[in-house]
Amino acid sequence: MTMAPRRQRLRRSLIIISFILFPITIFYFSPVLIIMGATAGVLAGAAIVFLCQFLSALILGRAFCGWICPAGGLQEACFPAQARRVNGKKSDWIKYLIWVPWMGTIIYLFTQSGIHGVDFFFMMESPISLSSPAQYPIYISVTALIFVLALTVGRRGFCHTACWMAPFMVAGAKFSRFLPLPTLYLRADADKCVECRDCTAQCPMSLDVPAMVQHGNMHNNECILCGSCIDACQRQSLSYAFGVNPVEKAKDAHLREK
Ligand code: SF4
Ligand code: SF4
Repeated sequence: MTMAPRRQRLRRSLIIISFILFPITIFYFSPVLIIMGATAGVLAGAAIVFLCQFLSALILGRAFCGWICPAGGLQEACFPAQARRVNGKKSDWIKYLIWVPWMGTIIYLFTQSGIHGVDFFFMMESPISLSSPAQYPIYISVTALIFVLALTVGRRGFCHTACWMAPFMVAGAKFSRFLPLPTLYLRADADKCVECRDCTAQCPMSLDVPAMVQHGNMHNNECILCGSCIDACQRQSLSYAFGVNPVEKAKDAHLREK
């Protein structure tokens, strides 16, 4: 068995540590506490975290998902048991069917109650999420959902189908591209690519990386900027870059010319 490149060992260590810390952090990602806060007109910790995810995506895309997401850590720990690729074309939409009504409910509740304050620890007994056994069933249910989807749907199945956080970052990345802002992105040199597909074999989001390379557009809503494809490519066809994505620049210039 070959050892993963150092960057990927670091990345996997970070997301596994994040998963180990999940009993402490789980309520800051809660899709329920944000609703309870909205009912009371309070911005709960989860609301602030989701806002930070949106803002981070303006410059880092979905790097949160690839590098520090606790749910990502649990799912990647499942890879030895289930590494089947996911046909994202169908499953990727499921999370939006959940997210849109959920977000609509939150916005509606805030329009009814207003925003009277910010309480990062709203409805929490302590800053540590699992501070009493009564809260263990919540933790077990959430981790079971992530675990079951990772094992049944395939690689990072929860990210594709049910993650309520991913759409915040997809929205942030889209807004960043619309402006356009300088951002972290994948750069490809199609001339170096021999379509060996080593990159795709390593992609935790099951993306068709060589097709993205050949089309000259490395943007994909499901790309979590994990860098696995970069580290898998023996031809150095792929790399990280930071700035206004040349594809967006070209579009912008085209629109100005019109
Ligand atoms: S690993 Fe590199 S050379 Fe192989 S298909 Fe991917 S980008 Fe092309
Ligand atoms: S395309 Fe590359 S950076 Fe994006 S998710 Fe796949 S392996 Fe990670």
